[in-house]
Amino acid sequence: MVLVDAGIQRSLPQIERSLKQARLAWRDLTHIFITHAHPDHVGNFPEIARLSGAPVWAHRLEAPILRGQKPVWRPNPKSIRWVDRWLEQSIATLIREPQATGAVERELQEDEPLSHVVPDLRVVHLPGHSAGHIGFYHQLEGWLIGGDVMMNLAGLSFPMAAFTPDPAEAWRSILRVTTIQPQILALGHGRPLHPTEPALRRMARRVQRELQRMQASQNAS
Ligand SMILES: [Zn+2]
Ligand SMILES: [Zn+2]
Repeated sequence: MVLVDAGIQRSLPQIERSLKQARLAWRDLTHIFITHAHPDHVGNFPEIARLSGAPVWAHRLEAPILRGQKPVWRPNPKSIRWVDRWLEQSIATLIREPQATGAVERELQEDEPLSHVVPDLRVVHLPGHSAGHIGFYHQLEGWLIGGDVMMNLAGLSFPMAAFTPDPAEAWRSILRVTTIQPQILALGHGRPLHPTEPALRRMARRVQRELQRMQASQNAS
């Protein structure tokens, strides 16, 4: 059994309850996969690695952050609106947990196959929200675990600007998801989306508009 992401630190009992509901124990975990190194996705990874003995795998650009060798990728404060900056501060106050650090056994590459762990599973590189942000796509069953490539709170939306250092790259990653056309899209925030249409098509149109707007403002300057 593979665990994808490890929640904020205080969610450990909740993760344990979910395991129990699935009649599983920590020892049943064979791998811990990380979509990206944000605190709300990695808070418990060292503790769960200790409890389960499972190795932690993350993209090569996130691994140094998880090991505590590099800071989390952040947007340039000048490039984000005051409302997003305020949101960032509020969320940081709410989470108020130190960045978890620990061992990463394996550094994953951009789109490497993971069939040796789960048949038909592969890494999908979805950068922008974080440089080493990845998803996990099961080709045969058509599901994609997409981390924070989008959120599904009140419908699909862009990842939060305050935590997305490269918005244009993040938009292109959304387009990548729409090209993959997963049947089920499980994101880090919100319930799994199924069916994924017409919501994904709408997102693709929004992204195209944003990219055009960006192009127009670059041409103007
Ligand atoms: Zn994130
Ligand atoms: Zn998140």
